[in-house]
Amino acid sequence: MNVASPDPAIRSYIAEHRSAFLDDLVEWLAIPSVSADPGRAPEIRRSAEWLAGKLTETGFPEVEVWETPGAPAVFAHWPAADPDAPTVLVYGHHDVQPADLADGWHTEPFQPALREGRLYGRGAADDKGQVLFHTLGVRAHLAASGRTAPAVHLKLLIEGEEESGSPNFPALVRDRAERLACDVVLVSDTGMWSEDTPTVCTGMRGLTDCQVDLYGPAQDIHSGSFGGGVPNPATEAARLAASLHDEQRRVAIPGFYDGVIELTDQERALFAELPFDEAAWLESAHSRATLGEHGRSTLERIWARPSAEVNGLSGGYQGPGGKTIVPSHAQLKLSFRLVAGMDAEKVQQAVRDWVAAGLPAGIRHEITFWGATKPCLTPLDHPALRAVVGAMERAFEQRVLFTREGGSGPAADLHETLDAPVLFLGVSVPSDGWHSPNEKVEVDLLAKGAEAAAYLWDGLADSLRPGS
Ligand SMILES: [Zn+2]
Repeated sequence: MNVASPDPAIRSYIAEHRSAFLDDLVEWLAIPSVSADPGRAPEIRRSAEWLAGKLTETGFPEVEVWETPGAPAVFAHWPAADPDAPTVLVYGHHDVQPADLADGWHTEPFQPALREGRLYGRGAADDKGQVLFHTLGVRAHLAASGRTAPAVHLKLLIEGEEESGSPNFPALVRDRAERLACDVVLVSDTGMWSEDTPTVCTGMRGLTDCQVDLYGPAQDIHSGSFGGGVPNPATEAARLAASLHDEQRRVAIPGFYDGVIELTDQERALFAELPFDEAAWLESAHSRATLGEHGRSTLERIWARPSAEVNGLSGGYQGPGGKTIVPSHAQLKLSFRLVAGMDAEKVQQAVRDWVAAGLPAGIRHEITFWGATKPCLTPLDHPALRAVVGAMERAFEQRVLFTREGGSGPAADLHETLDAPVLFLGVSVPSDGWHSPNEKVEVDLLAKGAEAAAYLWDGLADSLRPGS
């Protein structure tokens, strides 16, 4: 391992300003910016304005609150002195999940409490703490180098509706694409494997999902008079669901795996180094056994392989007792997680063809796709990823491993619209309790996050310099 040693000037700057940083975070966490609650709209605005004020105070020369049809986002830009420096766009969010003392919180969720090195409060880890460490990080970066502007053109986009599914985010990114233009996107809304195992996430799965409606007889009909002589949409829905996977538990839709980028041997070996406790994972999954594509580990299945799930299956009589009918209608809800190399539109077409080919004459069908989120993946040898890993290794003084994210997120919109690779810098740990009562953040880890960010701007400026 070849880890650069920590910079004592950056370390001491962060240590000296840690308590002022925590005071700031406590102030921000006290604003209940719950995007799911329309009654909290004034609080979300207050949260956006609080952040805008803090970014101005930090030194960002351009700070703007961007309106959307929903909650406002905050944009900030601090140009580098060198016009040829690369541009980094940091993504995070300032809205939070709902929280109520009655849900099992030990202290009021919007009255942050510091206990034993942990700061408890809604949004402490997801995502206010991880947005705010960038203010401390960039100040440390400047103080240690004596610069007056960061080594990269530093942009921040902090949205206000992530916890409500980011309904206005794709349009915001499209409308503001020129202002948001960047060489890399840095997402600070994720975590690491654990306190002892710092990791960098390298990608997220994409998603597309749909509803399939199957129509048989024009109305429910008598199963004695007609049953056995006409197609039954509920039977056909079940047949489709049952044929979604083959015996090896691979998705059986022709063409589904087209383009899938396989794990490299190096990635597979690095996944295997993670201290994965399958029993604990099963417990967190509230499940009794693992099951998935044969020949793949659980981490490969959820991070690096596409998947298909039946989310819902309904049709026919659902009331008490029996009702001897051939029902007129049945419905399937399906979702597909995509990995890098897959094209959501091609997957949608493959699903349409598979459904059409799988149904007998006499069953009419309609498919409605809800949306498509692109997968993203940064190769391990990408220079920008190497810079993130280098910054994390310097801050943590140990080797950093790699994870991926099985879920899908709004960063994919940045990836797609801005045509930039997505990198992740997050220091949250699984015990932080995102979306749960008693959400907290480890204050030491936030300081490490600030330290990694302080190293990162030089690292990215070097690794992304044209010709390097
Ligand atoms: Zn979040």
